[in-house]
Amino acid sequence: MEKQYCTAIVLAAGSGKRMGTKTHKQYLLIGGRPVLYYSLKAFQDSDLIDDIILVTGGGEEEYCRETIVEKYHMTKVTRIIPGGKERYESVWKGLQEAKRTGYTFIHDGARPFVDDGMIRRAYESVCEHRACVAGMPAKDTIKVVDEDGVVVDTPDRSRLWIVQTPQVFETGLIFRAYERLISEGVTTATDDAMAVEKMLGFPVHMFEGSYENIKITTPEDLETAEAFLRK
Ligand code: C5P
Repeated sequence: MEKQYCTAIVLAAGSGKRMGTKTHKQYLLIGGRPVLYYSLKAFQDSDLIDDIILVTGGGEEEYCRETIVEKYHMTKVTRIIPGGKERYESVWKGLQEAKRTGYTFIHDGARPFVDDGMIRRAYESVCEHRACVAGMPAKDTIKVVDEDGVVVDTPDRSRLWIVQTPQVFETGLIFRAYERLISEGVTTATDDAMAVEKMLGFPVHMFEGSYENIKITTPEDLETAEAFLRK
């Protein structure tokens, strides 16, 4: 089958309040390089990815261009654009810049450990299912609590997956889902799969991510990431 055109939208906007540092988490160093470098590098090196749209904080475009994109020769980055206040707004801005063809990989720039194997599994899955997300089975029991912190439900663990990125879709499908989400003013979608599930009622498949595909959110995550890199 002919290889489809693939765009990666890498998200690096947002304030990252939970990190508690002045520098935004995507620019903090792990293994001597910015967190954001690693996911850009994985997409840059993948022969499946044709171009990369980098969504960054408003006013950070030049900083990103000089200190990451040009410094590390990320030649597939065709656009660096400012994001929005919430993640879904950043995604929508990225989607509007993407070519309306093939598949779109949406990835959190705060997840440095996406790798070639994962990108390949994503491509195979999206060719088959048109909508798919990286995830791993939950290792812990997960409880649903009410507003007082009292347990109201314990879902069957064998059906629970932790959702990661990349989240990968036929471009036309994810564009339609977000177009509808934005026009209806829906603000509750915490990931891209939710937009497709809720706005289009379209089934989203899960493919295998990895337990190392963590999102750098709090200071402990930096230590974990350093340990993964040393391996
Ligand atoms: O804040 P959170 O950790 O959920 O962010 C996930 C990803 O989305 C990060 O890579 C962050 O840079 C990005 N993001 C964004 N625009 C926002 C908020 C988050 O691009 N307004």
